Amino acid sequence: MEKLGLNEIRKMFLEFFESKGHLVHESFSLVPEKDKSLILINSGMAPLKPYFAGLETPPRKRMTTCQKCIRTGDIENIGYTDRHGTFFEMMGNFSFGDYFKEQSLTWGWEFITEHLKLPKERIWATIYENDDEAFAIWRDKIGMPEERIVRLGKDDNFWEIGIGPCGPCSEIYFDRGEEYGCGSPDCKPGCDCDRYIEFWNHVFTQFDRDEEGNYTPLAHPNIETGMGLERMACVMQETDSIFAIDTIKHILDGVVKISGVEYQNGKAKEDISLRIITDHIRSVTFMISDGILPSNEGRGYVLRRLLRRAARHGKLLGIKGSFMPELAKLVIEVSGDAYPALVERQDYIFKVLSVEEEKFSETIDQGTNIINEYIKELKEAGKTELEGEKVFKLYDTYGFPLELTVEILEESDCTADEDSFNALMEQQREMARAARKSDDEIAWQDEELGFFTADDATEFTGYDTLTDESTVKAIIINRKPVDEITAGQEGNIVLDHTPFYAEMGGQAGDKGIITCGDAKLIVNDVVKAKNLFVHKVTAVEGTVKKGDKVTAQVDRVNRNNIARNHTATHILQAALKKVLGDHISQAGSSVTADGLRFDFTHFEAVSKEDIAKIEAVANEAVDEFIDVDTKTMSVDEAKKTGATALFGEKYGDTVRVVSVGDFSSELCGGTHLKNSGQVGAIKIISENGVAAGVRRIEAITGNGLYRHITEEDALINETAETLKTQPSNIAVKAAALTDEVKAYKKEIEELKRQSMGDSAGDLIKSAKEINGVKLVTGQFDGIDINDLRTLSDQLKAKEKSIINVLAAVNDGKVTFLVSVADDLLEKGYHAGNLIKQIAKVAGGGGGGKADMAQAGAKDPSKVAEALAFAETLI
Ligand code: ATP
Ligand code: MG
Repeated sequence: MEKLGLNEIRKMFLEFFESKGHLVHESFSLVPEKDKSLILINSGMAPLKPYFAGLETPPRKRMTTCQKCIRTGDIENIGYTDRHGTFFEMMGNFSFGDYFKEQSLTWGWEFITEHLKLPKERIWATIYENDDEAFAIWRDKIGMPEERIVRLGKDDNFWEIGIGPCGPCSEIYFDRGEEYGCGSPDCKPGCDCDRYIEFWNHVFTQFDRDEEGNYTPLAHPNIETGMGLERMACVMQETDSIFAIDTIKHILDGVVKISGVEYQNGKAKEDISLRIITDHIRSVTFMISDGILPSNEGRGYVLRRLLRRAARHGKLLGIKGSFMPELAKLVIEVSGDAYPALVERQDYIFKVLSVEEEKFSETIDQGTNIINEYIKELKEAGKTELEGEKVFKLYDTYGFPLELTVEILEESDCTADEDSFNALMEQQREMARAARKSDDEIAWQDEELGFFTADDATEFTGYDTLTDESTVKAIIINRKPVDEITAGQEGNIVLDHTPFYAEMGGQAGDKGIITCGDAKLIVNDVVKAKNLFVHKVTAVEGTVKKGDKVTAQVDRVNRNNIARNHTATHILQAALKKVLGDHISQAGSSVTADGLRFDFTHFEAVSKEDIAKIEAVANEAVDEFIDVDTKTMSVDEAKKTGATALFGEKYGDTVRVVSVGDFSSELCGGTHLKNSGQVGAIKIISENGVAAGVRRIEAITGNGLYRHITEEDALINETAETLKTQPSNIAVKAAALTDEVKAYKKEIEELKRQSMGDSAGDLIKSAKEINGVKLVTGQFDGIDINDLRTLSDQLKAKEKSIINVLAAVNDGKVTFLVSVADDLLEKGYHAGNLIKQIAKVAGGGGGGKADMAQAGAKDPSKVAEALAFAETLI
């Protein structure tokens, strides 16, 4: 067999089906666009479901793809079986009601025997037990000997999920040879051993299953097939596992090099760690390039789990420091040609990896020690199940995903109490939810708006006009449909068409009024629910009834301010890209009449210099007076023009593209200015981090900027008045004042020192001589311990054979300081011992060295007594 590389096989497959009239479509993102039930794309068919279900029309009836897939369900197989990865590519050909069984199988045969040139005698097929049609195709049309066509039951060869489209399948196997087999005379496809490797599954969706379990033939049956690219490469390259094929081996070699651990050196555990790291780095590299960031939920959590599991296996192999970006580089080397996004986003990928690695490295050692400690305690107590609270602590404090803890426990034959862990997690989520929820937040339920049908969608007329004559379709008060709303009431109004923009895509809803004769409603906000625009109103005059003709009028100034900030947001995004680089992508935004907030992917704080540059670039675009243009076009057209789209966002067939000349072009449904000059000016007022890898800037424009300046002006004027100077002079005056204060402080210090020097002199004069010791005692309220120490040093410098017992009272607390002159030390005087007994008198304690000691005490009224006691002691 020809040793074809993985990248070659992919190309051959797609070209083969293209020659058979299929539309070649690039791999869809790992993030499901249209399928909320799926967390990550796990098969070639998954992103095409709407076509199979008849919800959308496919661009062509024959399609072919090579799809990136993640199957976390296979995570436990990784490292243990030869044929599983958490990441793999699945190639497939698809027919949406076009060709069927015979065509799919004969083309399949043609591809593997004439193009890949697999030896025919080593190919086997399985079919569903009573699919005689498939049997006949394999035997009569293809010429496969009967004994190599294996009939298997429903579990293996019938594809169905609950009710709906389903059907039998036929799998194609390659016989790797007896040496891989279990030796059983019955060994054939379906056997658990590694001899027959399944590489291509053809699914014939030909029935519709109903609730009673009846199978009705579909009028237009479909074909979907899945061929594991890595497995095919494994067959073609005659390797014993997917980890030995060209592309994956390149990565595994990298892990071997970094860890210094030899592969297949007889230590099974090390091999498993090597393979786990190799596999996981592929998954995470692709996930990050598809816009997933590590987090504690959903896809982000899967990513974090894989990353942290890889990090732990890195530790087990003795790898020190960061290693993932280096390995991701290898993934990009082998897959970058087929997936250019990997190359385009490589710096971003490395950054995400190193940030997450660094985060976990802070706690992984501690966490590992703690879990080992827990295991020891369990063993000693004769138990095997770790309490939920401890599992939770490992998660919450040390960042150990549950699955990682479970895995580590399993290595010591222990388990985790997952139920109580989950209960604690739920508790934490509940608390977070409660903290987030605000009272007036309206989440419309289906049942509340259930009386509307899809045809009732509100038509938005507000791109072209701010006033519209509309009809009231519904009035909802206290979440119930009613017939009218009267002055004094608050409620919600739905119109047939409206100029009011509903909060969407980060842009705030419009404000304004709705009038009907004398009746007047104030529109406070507008939200979108289903495809309806719901106006939140306060009725201030008269009564408005369902069916009334009304005039809907948007507050022009408010709308203008919103438009300013929205167009400014686009300009800023373009400026950010120009200054910081193309890795910037929008992570969230909020546009209101007051200002704008823009969240974007970036890994470090933006420097003051860069902020200034971004501002300058943005304001230049404002001053250029560039026309703002909106066009609707197909998604593909929009992509061709290079318009910025939101990462992972789902767009309809036609999209609206808003461009500010050549400066910025974005897919956007919002309301904008006619010309960039109308922004006035853009000022960034803050920049900070909001999550790992996400920064936020806030900015203001036009009116907001005017108000900001007015407020700052007032502040400056007030400050100038306090400083008794002109506003233009406040900086000079403030600096002068600061200098003045500094000089005063210095002077005070000097005076203090002098006065202490004087007191030192006085104190020595008043010293008592006892047994050849000069004892100085004194109380100095209001001075701190540092001053006491200075004083005691001065005393010691002035006089030999001196012992100082000083006290100070500050805020009701007593501090004692005792110091002993050097020549007295050899006579056995010890400051630490003295102070212990002295401080005790005033309700304190302490100790210290022989030459100097200090102590605190509680009772200021006993200070004199304590000082007198010092005399007795000496
Ligand atoms: P298996 O039983 O080996 O796990 P499967 O029945 O789950 O395979 P399918 O769902 O039929 O596989 O997927 C279609 C093809 O995708 C398979 O024939 C196989 O070649 C490939 N495939 C499935 N899972 C993986 C995996 N984890 N790693 C690599 N390739 C895979
Ligand atoms: Mg499987």
